[in-house]
Amino acid sequence: MLHKHSEKYRNPRLLVHRSKTAELELPETKLLSTQFQTLTNDKTTPTSTSIQETKQLGQRYTIPEHGIKEDVAYSLIHNELTLDGNPHLNLASFVNTATTDIAKKLVMENINKNLADNDEYPQLIELTQRCVSILAQLWCCSKGDTPIGCSTTGSSEAVMLGGLTMKKRWEHKMRAQGRDCSKPNIIMSSACQVALEKFARYFDVECRLVPVSAATHFCMDPKLLHEYVDENTIGLFVIMGTTYTGHLEDISEICRTLEEIESRNPQWGNLEIPIHVDGASGGFILPFGYDAEHLSKLNGLDQWCFNNPRVLSINTSSHKFGLTTPGLGWVLWRDESLLPAELRFRLKYLGGVEETFGLNFSRPGFQVVHQYFNFMSLGFTGFRERFRKSLFVARAFSYALLKSEKLRDSIEIVSSVHERIADGGVPQNVNEYISQFDAFKAGIPLVAFKLSRKFQEKYPDIPQVIVSSMLRTRGWIIPNYPLPRSTDGSEKWEVLRVVFRSEMQLDLAQLLLFDIETVIARLVRSYEKVLRHLAAEQTEEERRAFIYEMLLTLASPGGPDAAASDDEDAENAEAAARAREKRAHLAERTSRNYRGTC
Ligand SMILES: *Cc1c(COP(=O)(O)O)cnc(C)c1O
Repeated sequence: MLHKHSEKYRNPRLLVHRSKTAELELPETKLLSTQFQTLTNDKTTPTSTSIQETKQLGQRYTIPEHGIKEDVAYSLIHNELTLDGNPHLNLASFVNTATTDIAKKLVMENINKNLADNDEYPQLIELTQRCVSILAQLWCCSKGDTPIGCSTTGSSEAVMLGGLTMKKRWEHKMRAQGRDCSKPNIIMSSACQVALEKFARYFDVECRLVPVSAATHFCMDPKLLHEYVDENTIGLFVIMGTTYTGHLEDISEICRTLEEIESRNPQWGNLEIPIHVDGASGGFILPFGYDAEHLSKLNGLDQWCFNNPRVLSINTSSHKFGLTTPGLGWVLWRDESLLPAELRFRLKYLGGVEETFGLNFSRPGFQVVHQYFNFMSLGFTGFRERFRKSLFVARAFSYALLKSEKLRDSIEIVSSVHERIADGGVPQNVNEYISQFDAFKAGIPLVAFKLSRKFQEKYPDIPQVIVSSMLRTRGWIIPNYPLPRSTDGSEKWEVLRVVFRSEMQLDLAQLLLFDIETVIARLVRSYEKVLRHLAAEQTEEERRAFIYEMLLTLASPGGPDAAASDDEDAENAEAAARAREKRAHLAERTSRNYRGTC
C-alpha cells in the first residue's frame, strides 16, 4: 500500500488538543476533553516525568523530539493494535496465522539473522538449501535434471523472477535468429492474483488476460488460447489454486492446445512455449493433500509440476500453506540451464563464489528456519493430515450450507472441492468425504459461495455485501467480491469466500454456519418489515431502491464517511470531482476484487 503524507496527517484531528501548559499525571488522560483536563489539573499535582510523554501522544505522524518510556510506548501501541481484526477469524486470507510456542521460540532465537549474510550464517544458508531440495522433490524433479531455486519474500517476488527468466530466454531465442524482440507478451487468466499482472507491467511485457467463465470454473479456457498465443509469447502463468474459487487450472489441456498451436505455426522463432506454475497456495496443497493417482483422474492434473515437460518454473508461498509467518516464498527452476547468466550475480562467499538471483538483498532469516522446522516437525504425514482435515471441514461446511433447513436453497456454492468427480454431486452422508476421499474434486481448501439465484430473484434489493458486513459484527472477516472478467457475464456475480486454514476447525465452522443462518434470516425479516412500513404513496420501485441504497450504505467499507474523508484528501478540483463521482456510484465502493487478496 502506498501512503501519502497529506494534510490529514500534517494536522491530525485529535480528540483532545492539549494546551502547552497542561501537565498531566497519567498518559491515559489524553483521551479526556480539554475541559476535563483543566479540571484534573486543578486537583492534581503534576509529576515531571509524565509531562513530556503526554505532550507527545498527539504527535502520531511526527517523530517526537524525545522518546517516551518503552513500557508506555508498548502499551499505547499494543492497545491501538487491538483494533485490528482477530487474525484467526480472518477467513479472507490464505496467509497462515497459527504458530506453535516451540516454533516461536526457534523464530525468536533467530530473529536477528540476515539471510544475505552468507559468511556469518552458513547454517542458515544450509537450511535454505535443504528447503530447496525438499521442494524440488515434492514437485517431481527428475533424476537427469539439476533443479535450482531460491527463497523470496513471497510468491510476488517469486513470480517476478520466474517471469524474468522466461523473458530473457525468449529474447535470446529470438535474437539468435535475428528476429524482433521488442514486443514480448505473457498469457494468464483473468483470475490471476495482482502479482502476476505486476510482473507484466513492471518488466515491460504485454499482459494478455484470458477471460474466464463459469464453464471453465473461473479458470483459463484452453480453447481461447488460439486467439492469444503468438511468436512473441514468452510463456504462460498457469495458476494452481486461483484466489477467487481455489480451482486448479487445466494444465494438461493447456499443454495440448499449445502443441496444436505450435504444430500449426512451424515458422515461429519461438516454439516450446514454457509454463510457469503459480503455486502460491497449490505448491504445498497439491503434493501433500492429494495422491498422484487421484489427481490423474482430474484431467491429468498429476502433470502439474516438473513431471510436465513444459513446466520450467514453479513458485509457492511459505506463509500460506507452508505454515510460516508472512514474508517467505520460493521459486524453483527445473534445471540450472534455465537461469540466464545475465540474471545471476556472483558474490564472494567463504572463500568461494556464490551466485544470487533476487530482487531483495537483506531479508529476515528466521522464516527459512521456521519453514525447515515445519518440514521436520510435521513430516509428510503431518502436512497431509492437516490439509486433509482442512479439506474435510471445507467440504462439510459446503455440505451444511446446501442442506441447512434454515437456509432453504438460499445459497449456491461456486467452489468445487465438495463435489464428486464422477457426477458433480454431493454425497448422501458427510462422512463419505473421509471414507471416499479420492472420489471428490481437488482444489484449495476454501468455500466460495453466493446467494442463490432463487434468493436473488425473491429479494433483488438485498445486496450480498451486507452479509459480509453483518458477519463482521460477530468478528468473522469474510470478503464479498465480484468474479473476474469473463466471457459469460459471470463477473457480475459476487462471491463470499472462506479460506479453511488449520485453525478453522469443525466447531468454529459450525458457529460460522449458525451465524450465516441468523444473518440471512434477520436480513429477510428486516427487509420485509421496512418494505411494509415505507410510505404507501411511494411506488414499489422507489421503496425497493430505497432499501437497496440503505443496505448498501450500511455495508460499504469505511461506512458513509468514506467518501467524505476522500474529499478532505482531495488536493485539487479533479480529485474532488472524482470523489463526487465515487459517491454517486455507491455500489462501486463495495466492489473490490480478489486479485488483491492473499
Ligand atoms: C497469494 C497469491 C499470490 C501472491 O503471493 P504473496 O506470497 O502474497 O506475494 C500470487 N498468486 C496466488 C494464486 C496467490 O494466492
